[in-house]
Amino acid sequence: MEKALAVFQSLASELLADEKVKSVVDYIPAEQLFDRLDLSLDDNPIDDATHLEKLKALIMATPRTATNGFFNQLYGGRNEKAVLGELLAVLLNNSMYTYKAAGAQVGVEKVVLRKVCETIGWDTNADGTFATGGSLTNFMSMLMARDAANSKVRFEGVRQRMTVYTSIESHYSIPKNAAFAGIGRDNVRYIPVNNVGEMDPVALDKAIAKDVADGLLPVLVNATAGTTVLGAFDNVEAINAVCKKHDVWMHVDGAYCGSVIFSKKYKHHLKGLENVDSFSFNAHKMIGTPLTCSIIVVKDKKHLRDSFANDAEYLFQTDEDEFNPGKTSLQCGRRNDALKFWTLWKSVGTKGLEKIVDHQFALADTAREYVKNHPDYTFYSFDDSISVCFNYKNIPAQELSVKLYEKAELMVSHGNFQENDFIRFVTINAQNSHDEILAFFKRLEEFVEEHMPEYSDVKTI
Ligand SMILES: *Cc1c(COP(=O)(O)O)cnc(C)c1O
Repeated sequence: MEKALAVFQSLASELLADEKVKSVVDYIPAEQLFDRLDLSLDDNPIDDATHLEKLKALIMATPRTATNGFFNQLYGGRNEKAVLGELLAVLLNNSMYTYKAAGAQVGVEKVVLRKVCETIGWDTNADGTFATGGSLTNFMSMLMARDAANSKVRFEGVRQRMTVYTSIESHYSIPKNAAFAGIGRDNVRYIPVNNVGEMDPVALDKAIAKDVADGLLPVLVNATAGTTVLGAFDNVEAINAVCKKHDVWMHVDGAYCGSVIFSKKYKHHLKGLENVDSFSFNAHKMIGTPLTCSIIVVKDKKHLRDSFANDAEYLFQTDEDEFNPGKTSLQCGRRNDALKFWTLWKSVGTKGLEKIVDHQFALADTAREYVKNHPDYTFYSFDDSISVCFNYKNIPAQELSVKLYEKAELMVSHGNFQENDFIRFVTINAQNSHDEILAFFKRLEEFVEEHMPEYSDVKTI
């Protein structure tokens, strides 16, 4: 093992050094790259030196997500404290189903969950768990909502038409999950949004009332805290009032921006969160832990047990249920995703988490100010979001995004809202400085000058 760790150390050092000079790896079309790297698995072993060489070639050719050139997804950066926790979790390799197998690590998970519940304002009747991503924590919310609406479903299967409600701007896991849950994609109601991308509570109310009148059973309203494209926050209070009126489970999908709960300055975006039934967020997005670190918490922990507990004599052999988190999880064997978050949190305190969140909004302000004050840019998104959407010199967003990728300059994606396509720039990497945000725009402008001369004189209208 010592030898493997030394190899890890040397590979890591080389990678870190190279990332400093090269923030984006060369683009090589998939098939060419796979030929070049020699990923084949053969019958015979290879010697350690060759093995190391292959590993090195592989990591050096892998997209870099921790650099100041990566703005493509809703995660980025490399938080050293969280990485340390993650490496320890790999080394320890506990499965988080029982106290017997995970011991002290069960305590780590419980402390993180308790603290999240307290942050929301929930008492010890609340609890939560970790799953392998925001899609899956959303799935758990749907299963609990379904079972809460009709507890027989767990035994008999879905026998009546159930409906779920989510905004047209919400994440694609909702229809997928509706299919998995036996509710069906056709029974997802896509509620329209207002002009800043937030779900319309009046339209929601009408949609639920209509389904009830038609004899269907509404089971879940999914609100989003940080929509995937615009980073918009649905109005939790207004939506909650509609849910209360119709007695429907309310979940808040905070995968992207739910971590605002840690910020005094920005938690107002989730005002009324303490009144919802469940809430999930990805610490691997705003908090910056390695993938994946997804938490779901429920106001009444009974629902976790109702939907996810199953007896298994071969597994749950010792200790009380309270210390056997396998009784309330989606999986059986489960990685220790809590340790990376705990390691970071323990180090920087809740105030440190707040700083991370606030810094991302401050970086977004810098980006917005730049875009709004520069005549060659058109701004499409809104304040109070860490997604900054724009076009430069009217260049079609997809063309610009693809070219930046293929020429290995920058990784940034594109999206659309209403009639407009645009570049979606996210300031989720809290390790970036304000200068690095401004450097992004400089790089983009110089790139267009050099590689897209046909656009360099184009003026925006
Ligand atoms: C990222 C995201 C998800 C999915 O989370 P994964 O961890 O990628 O599965 C769900 N909802 C929203 C709003 C997201 O931004």
